[in-house]
Amino acid sequence: MKDTFQRNINYLRISVTDRCNLRCVYCMPEQGVDLACHEDILRLEEIARVVHSAVLAGIRKVRFTGGEPLVRKNIVDLVAMVNDIPEIDDIALTTNGILLPEMAGRLRKAGLTRVNISLDTLSPEKFSRVTRGGLLSKAWLGVESAREAGFNPVKINTVAIRGFNDDEILDFVDLTRKVPLHIRFIELMPIGAGEEAARSQYISTPELLKTISRKVKLVPEKEVAGSGPARYYRIPGAPGTVGFISPISNHFCDSCNRLRLTSEGLLRPCLHSPTEIDLKTPLRNGASEIEIASIIKLAINSKPERHDMSNTGWQGNRRIMNQIGG
Ligand code: SAM
Ligand code: SF4
Repeated sequence: MKDTFQRNINYLRISVTDRCNLRCVYCMPEQGVDLACHEDILRLEEIARVVHSAVLAGIRKVRFTGGEPLVRKNIVDLVAMVNDIPEIDDIALTTNGILLPEMAGRLRKAGLTRVNISLDTLSPEKFSRVTRGGLLSKAWLGVESAREAGFNPVKINTVAIRGFNDDEILDFVDLTRKVPLHIRFIELMPIGAGEEAARSQYISTPELLKTISRKVKLVPEKEVAGSGPARYYRIPGAPGTVGFISPISNHFCDSCNRLRLTSEGLLRPCLHSPTEIDLKTPLRNGASEIEIASIIKLAINSKPERHDMSNTGWQGNRRIMNQIGG
């Protein structure tokens, strides 16, 4: 359905948990993480009911995220439940990849269409530093198992961080010459634990493109399946592509087609606005799918025209990224 700014809102990003098996420095604090209690998290059946209702409000694409969606018990069953909804034509997942080796095949069989894996460095030591203890070899096995399970495209999300991985940008680009991976550089956002770092370690897309084009010729690419706000390029003849997601330097609000559902059942019309609409209470009070759909339509109509992150910083500051779902 169209919102008040004539954008077609057809995409729901669902955070299935606020828990995570890593602690990336720009996403979650090391300790003292304020996690929701078990009863406050939507049950799988409740999430599936929200998707059924969302379909009545025009949603056609779903992405599972978190926290780390693969630590949510029975996530494969949830994928299968959503796959049974005929109107949903695309089910994607964003993961750190650590648990993919044991789950990729089952997720694909259950109906998952696409997978994005977050990977900020190709150095085991730096991976351990940025994730506070993660093993790069496990994440990389996750990438390989996604490819072996037949996911195509497999996209890699890399947050560009000055003084951390700016010396590896060309190595990531080089990977696309050898493997059909879609590397997407994401601008660091002033969100939650990333707020401090974003002040000093942010690298803009134009700066990245300049660095890359000094060494490598990139040609613009039309589209990669599910490309959303990313702009894609390719080294001529390479099997993979290089994409850029630029929420700060070139916000894509005028084409934003998404709503977000937090793991506690709050609907967020915009990642960067603190507005949240409670779906859990009506769900647990027995509201019908039509009634839930009308609340979702209200959320769509309250979507702001744009965010103002570059001027005002993080406006959703009551929550950090793992709580909302990245
Ligand atoms: N755990 C999963 C993962 O890491 O892919 C899914 C959730 S994570 C919050 C989703 C995405 O948000 C990841 O690609 C992560 O790098 C990104 N992210 C988290 N905090 C960010 C920040 N401050 N700026 C930019 N991207 C961020
Ligand atoms: Fe966990 Fe993903 Fe956040 Fe890293 S970015 S701490 S993997 S939720």
